[in-house]
Amino acid sequence: MTSAATPEPHWSDVRHWMRPGTLSLPSLPPLSLYIHLPWCIKKCPYCDFNSHEWSATSQPGQALPEQAYLDALRADLTSALPLIWGRTVHSVFIGGGTPSLFSPEAIDRLLSDVRALVRLTPDAEITLEANPGTFEVDRFRAFAQAGITRLSIGVQSFNDAHLKALGRVHDRAQALAAVNEAAKSFDTFNLDIMYALPGQSMADCDTDIRTALGFAPPHISIYHLTLEPNTYFAKFPPVLPADDDAYAMLDRITERTAEAGLSRYEVSAYARDGHRCWHNLNYWGFGDYLGIGAGAHSKLSFAHRVMRQVRLREPRLYQNAAMAGDAVASTETVLRKDLPFEYMLNALRLREGFSLQDFCERTGLPLSSINAALQTAQDKGWLLVEGGRVVPTERGFDFLSDVQSLFLVD
Ligand code: SF4
Repeated sequence: MTSAATPEPHWSDVRHWMRPGTLSLPSLPPLSLYIHLPWCIKKCPYCDFNSHEWSATSQPGQALPEQAYLDALRADLTSALPLIWGRTVHSVFIGGGTPSLFSPEAIDRLLSDVRALVRLTPDAEITLEANPGTFEVDRFRAFAQAGITRLSIGVQSFNDAHLKALGRVHDRAQALAAVNEAAKSFDTFNLDIMYALPGQSMADCDTDIRTALGFAPPHISIYHLTLEPNTYFAKFPPVLPADDDAYAMLDRITERTAEAGLSRYEVSAYARDGHRCWHNLNYWGFGDYLGIGAGAHSKLSFAHRVMRQVRLREPRLYQNAAMAGDAVASTETVLRKDLPFEYMLNALRLREGFSLQDFCERTGLPLSSINAALQTAQDKGWLLVEGGRVVPTERGFDFLSDVQSLFLVD
């Protein structure tokens, strides 16, 4: 006689996640909501995000399926509610893709749906990613009126030749106009800038960063152009500045931003006082986030385990599945042995590091699980442990992946 295997419980069965386990989280971390809007005008050759060129998947002139996608997001969020029951959401980040392709009316409806379904703190930070295309810029003020509190603009560069090399659809004039408009419509905003671009010299990089700082932005995120697998650039790599030149560019950027009153509070993020991105700080602090939308990732904690989830990537499949009540592609419990490394991948990106208490509270692990690695990192001069905080040294910050790998367990 064969016995039937016990069926795996459905991911939304909260009793499955609440059952006893070997971790012990005394309280749950703050919760954020991420919403993915997956379409772009054109796919950039370096981009490995879950972004889809709208014109490649639609009939000529066809409008974005805003309402159908918003219906799917609402259904998706409704299905996920049992996992976050009773919890307050502290920030919302609408990313993509190019979310600013959605109309202000659609963003207004999206935020109304969110507010109807989850408890949002009254001062919640609500970020929207935007690109500097002309018709999107005309909408910035209306996005603010719809409830967006923070705009993050994908400027990348103010140099026409470099924008072209990056395959961006906007030019310098549009980038300047977008930042001007953002500064008028938002108290806080971010500029995404890239460096180590094809053909970029130190002088070009300096001009870009000076131009960006000329707008007195409250926040800048600076990214090194990297050739990610499965991108056009990975197949047809452009010639990039040498590593030493790229390091020198980053040093110059850090110097210029410091002169302008922005401090580097995370590997890629620079902010004026009071303008750090709450949403991203929650990620880096190993806080929780529910991700809805095509390909969105979630990390959610329960009293005795930490779970990760990914939604279906392809927008149409996602929409259909979400409307049918289940858009989740994969769900997994983070293994106890993997938690220290996962925590360090995030928390050590922060200039101010983390508190040992936060480590214990957010992983549910005792300090003994990282004591040996912490000692090795201190012996190498990579980390300082003082007053219950762990802070990367200058050297540790420069060799971050080596420091993080000390916390890997086979
Ligand atoms: S605009 Fe942004 S998300 Fe869209 S393809 Fe380019 S880099 Fe990717």
